[in-house]
Amino acid sequence: MPDCIIVGGGVIGLLTARQLFLEGVDVLLLEKGPLGGESSWAGGGIISPLYPWRYDDAVNVLAERSKQIYPVLADQLFEQTGQDCELLHSGLFTVAEDQQEIADWANKWSVDARFINDADSVHAIENTVGKVVNQGIWMPDVMQLRNPRFVSALKASCEFLSIPYREHEAVEEIVVENNKVCGVRTRQQTISAEKVIIASGAWSAQFSATESSVDVVPVKGQMIMYKGEPDLVKRIVLSEGHYIIPRKDGRILAGSTLEKIGFDKTISAGALAELHQAAIELIPLLEGLEVERQWAGLRPGTEKGIPYICQHDEVENLYVHAGHFRNGIVLGAASAELMTDIVLDREPWCDVTPYTINAQD
Ligand SMILES: Cc1cc2nc3c(=O)[nH]c(=O)nc-3n(C[C@H](O)[C@H](O)[C@H](O)COP(=O)(O)OP(=O)(O)OC[C@H]3O[C@@H](n4cnc5c(N)ncnc54)[C@H](O)[C@@H]3O)c2cc1C
Repeated sequence: MPDCIIVGGGVIGLLTARQLFLEGVDVLLLEKGPLGGESSWAGGGIISPLYPWRYDDAVNVLAERSKQIYPVLADQLFEQTGQDCELLHSGLFTVAEDQQEIADWANKWSVDARFINDADSVHAIENTVGKVVNQGIWMPDVMQLRNPRFVSALKASCEFLSIPYREHEAVEEIVVENNKVCGVRTRQQTISAEKVIIASGAWSAQFSATESSVDVVPVKGQMIMYKGEPDLVKRIVLSEGHYIIPRKDGRILAGSTLEKIGFDKTISAGALAELHQAAIELIPLLEGLEVERQWAGLRPGTEKGIPYICQHDEVENLYVHAGHFRNGIVLGAASAELMTDIVLDREPWCDVTPYTINAQD
């Protein structure tokens, strides 16, 4: 019998299982499909919120901690598995105007954010940006990782460390007796456990214990990918919610849509047109490249983008680790550390109040 079952093997479940295991907890990770096959595979992998100055401190504190963890984690994963999750220091150029709000945020969190006020300086940072762009914020320290490689490396790390996981085993019910968790029931069997963590992404409100208390909804995001050459575009560029992410091998991602239409992952011609138009306005040379692929993922949406990282308020030994919305990669590493502190009932590394069920009511 494991000490702790984690329901859902996206980045949040994988990072949580790994962190708890490294702290000596006997875990079992259960995933209804392949590990990392949902939102965690589909995302852009930018290790910064888009427009972080618009977010609550509760998001920024996790993001800043994660930025310190990722270089170490990427090295560990490579040493353990030989897999490179392509952590790149691409930097992020954001077309933005409200300088005071950004300066206040950058000062508060000690982030290197430089105001760029002329087209020549913009082009010195990223020479493919369209000529109309003549001001914005340059954050040279922003990193990215490549999602499919990251989830693959996390899975391989579980194998390396012998962390038990089962794919294609959906949890149908959290078994609760006298308001206390005693395990889960899957299609295959009932598995007893002392503790259960719900890390089921957009599906986290599906259980009877969570449907009335956990407010996580799917928010579809579509993305397109161009086939380019390495270093054709070097920087991540963001304008009016649309972004361009250059990968190491020359692939260039353009994202993303925000669609609240339930559990629907179909891709649309409308989204392709929208993303392509926004992309070529920002970086005109993309017009000459082939769109190689289009896909969609379901973000675990919460109203303010603040995740649940907490003990359930009514069911003993049930925990919720979900709702990272647009920021599951950038928040995930720090969030897993906090969840581990909570499960082990020790002093948490940051204030847990904003992530509780009551705080989000
Ligand atoms: C287009 C797009 C771009 C994005 N870009 C970024 C970015 O640049 N940076 C960033 O930080 N974030 C980004 N995100 C957000 C990020 O991808 C998510 O916040 C993150 O992946 C959420 O991870 P998760 O593990 O909670 O969810 P998921 O990856 O969806 O994992 C949840 C898992 O739970 C499983 N599950 C559900 N129900 C059950 C059940 N009953 N039993 C067992 N398993 C179950 C699912 O199959 C799934 O694998 C982006 C997302 C999208 C869609």
